Amino acid sequence: MTARPPIPSPPYTGSCLCGQVRWTLKARPLAVNACHCTDCKKTTGATNVVMLIARSEDFSSTGETQFYRKRADSGRELDIQRCAKCGTRMFHHNLASNALVFIAAGTLDDPSWAIPTSHIWVEKISPGVTMEEDAIQVVGQPTDRKILMDAFAKVYGS
Ligand SMILES: [Zn+2]
Ligand SMILES: [Zn+2]
Repeated sequence: MTARPPIPSPPYTGSCLCGQVRWTLKARPLAVNACHCTDCKKTTGATNVVMLIARSEDFSSTGETQFYRKRADSGRELDIQRCAKCGTRMFHHNLASNALVFIAAGTLDDPSWAIPTSHIWVEKISPGVTMEEDAIQVVGQPTDRKILMDAFAKVYGS
């Protein structure tokens, strides 16, 4: 069994490395998803990136960010926001729909509970990376993000 500490009650807070950018999420995330795509490896320098998927209306941030507009092979575009000072990858929105925000879980002040319930682009997984046995695995990008939210709700309740 995957050891999963309970998810603390909201709000959740996070910041970049230098502390210039801070964010607050005032509701539970809808999903905790790990992405193993090449772009996420490049933009973080890590083997994968864990993202909290949440409603934009529950999210706010302070501090100056700069963004890089990334275009995926699918044509989907997203603005990856970084701290303008220290360059930490913070969060992004999909240009086609601003309803959701994707927050890099490593920027949480307390990241201890952010354990993925889904993994995408699993065919690109880096050597040495393991996946929780109760998390779902998706090849490539899911056509509907609802399966990521369903996976989260199945583990933690909705
Ligand atoms: Zn910073
Ligand atoms: Zn990715």
